[in-house]
Amino acid sequence: MKIMVSACLAGENCKYNGGNNRNEKVIRLMAEHEVITVCPEQMGGLPTPRVPSEIRNGVVTAKDGRIVDDAFRAGAAKCLEIALRERPELVVLQSRSPSCGMNQRYDGSFSGKLVNAPGVTAQLLLENGFRCVDVEDLE
Ligand code: SF4
Repeated sequence: MKIMVSACLAGENCKYNGGNNRNEKVIRLMAEHEVITVCPEQMGGLPTPRVPSEIRNGVVTAKDGRIVDDAFRAGAAKCLEIALRERPELVVLQSRSPSCGMNQRYDGSFSGKLVNAPGVTAQLLLENGFRCVDVEDLE
């Protein structure tokens, strides 16, 4: 099976703080399936490390107040382009990210509060019919 995954789950150091979210379930999937890794924030042109961002009133905003919506949406569009070309049967996404979050994301106040809504890449992939799962819901 072909699976697309958030690159940080595969152990790539693409997280905002330069680290990763290596997940052993994802590592096992990589041994058994064809896995494509994507990091929409890097693909949108953002550096690593980078200032963390959240979605505030529908606009992706960095903690220092800069509007970074265009970069996040460009990265989401590149992920969609790869997904449309590669046609993964499953997409496994990192929880709570403003890009990859599936079930929840932070509310834009940088206070740790969550809302039940996806990040921009997860939303775009869902709208285009891809089967997406939050890594925390991976069987
Ligand atoms: S954008 Fe997605 S893949 Fe990249 S670091 Fe954030 S959660 Fe991981």
